[in-house]
Amino acid sequence: MRHVAVIGSGPAGFYTAEACLRTFGDAVRIDLIDRLPVPYGLIRSGVAPDHQSIKAVTRRYEGVANEAPVRFFGNVTVGRDVSVAELRGLYDAVVIATGAPADRPLGIPGAELPGVIGSAAFVGWYNGHPDHADLAPPLEGETAVVIGNGNVALDVARILAKTPEEFAGSDIVRHALDALAASRVRRVLICGRRGPHQIAMTPKELGELAHLARAAPHVDPSDLPPEAEDAALDPGQRKSVALLRSFAAPPPEDKPVGIDFRFFTAPVAILGTGRVEAIRLERTRIGADGRAEGSGAMQDIPCAMVVSCIGYRSIAIPGLAYDERLGRFVNEEGRIGGAGSGLYCAGWARRGPTGTIGTNRPDGFQIAEEIAADIPVPAGKAGGEGLAALLAERGVESVSFADWRRIEAAETARARGGSPREKFVRLAELMAAGHVVTD
Ligand code: NAP
Repeated sequence: MRHVAVIGSGPAGFYTAEACLRTFGDAVRIDLIDRLPVPYGLIRSGVAPDHQSIKAVTRRYEGVANEAPVRFFGNVTVGRDVSVAELRGLYDAVVIATGAPADRPLGIPGAELPGVIGSAAFVGWYNGHPDHADLAPPLEGETAVVIGNGNVALDVARILAKTPEEFAGSDIVRHALDALAASRVRRVLICGRRGPHQIAMTPKELGELAHLARAAPHVDPSDLPPEAEDAALDPGQRKSVALLRSFAAPPPEDKPVGIDFRFFTAPVAILGTGRVEAIRLERTRIGADGRAEGSGAMQDIPCAMVVSCIGYRSIAIPGLAYDERLGRFVNEEGRIGGAGSGLYCAGWARRGPTGTIGTNRPDGFQIAEEIAADIPVPAGKAGGEGLAALLAERGVESVSFADWRRIEAAETARARGGSPREKFVRLAELMAAGHVVTD
């Protein structure tokens, strides 16, 4: 029997498990290990709660979880409860699929002030990640500033702009829904350090801004390049820029919340005493190398909250080489430390935080092929039985897929208002719902 441990049960972890099942059939046992008592990683706590059609990909993962060779060890932190070296002793192959859950730092003066929030924390807050349940973002100011021109910036701006009714059918967590219902934010600035032609936003996500109940997007027409230059863009980007052009026209109706795009503006400092009071933005232009360069023209914008949506980093694991610059594990085509090491990485831990959920699928299949090539004969290791024994010895209460199904059933049972579930957020609540903790 070939034993594979996959650390992380988000998209990259599940696609790797699926690929190992397809590649090795009954001759493999795959254990998905996650530090949370719930699977699905980014799908549960990253994908926006009002994007249920994207979240539906978990049905595919459920199919994988239902396969006999696949086991879940939730509530197990690698590096604390068990080391990578110990996993290597128990499994033929260990795959790191831990994603990129940390924010890329903003790195400007004042970035540490309360009210400056990274997108990992903000998104985790409204999506019920236990680490971010206590965030309490300051929603009492009229202006909120969102830094970045990617899809995460769009998610954050949209969530800040929606009415409570527009969350019907979503799985936004109760604490966030209540806080957003009381929000006094009436202007969301989306700041991009480059221009409309350089956005990393996609048309579907951008188009959603045009259909919000109380909010309207606005682009300053003078920031738009000449229309003839759009011809050089790829079709998707051209569509996005066409939407931005439509946002520059006067809105058909007045709406109380504005989502204002500020292109060619880079944040240079966050100002305030004890909390965010304003952000200093510098007007930029695009240099010969295609990067943003400062013009020296500054503007201070009063605001109570800055959400930085400028990309993510993987979190280093003791004992594994980590590339500080790229924010991911050092690897060659997914192999960590060469062909004989038995160590691999997949998804954002391998490539960095880019691409769609489906981009992780080929990663998983490549890793399965590499495992087949590198480890032609399994070494008769202890696998999941060995891990279960080790965890029991250490008093670590792991969560199985059966426990997870109980958590999910309890979340579904308490759902309200057309929502698919009402998530538990606290670790203790999750563990209790899984009937793992009894006192
Ligand atoms: P992203 O697409 O890489 O965008 C990051 C943005 O931050 C870019 O506009 C970048 O500008 C800007 N930025 C980086 N450093 C900056 C700095 N120091 N100051 C100001 N701006 C800075 O990242 P993301 O939005 O976090 O998304 C991550 C991935 O998830 C992407 O592949 C995204 O498409 C995907 N995603 C998809 C969906 C969806 O499909 N619905 C939703 C969310 C996320 P430059 O271009 O100038 O570097």
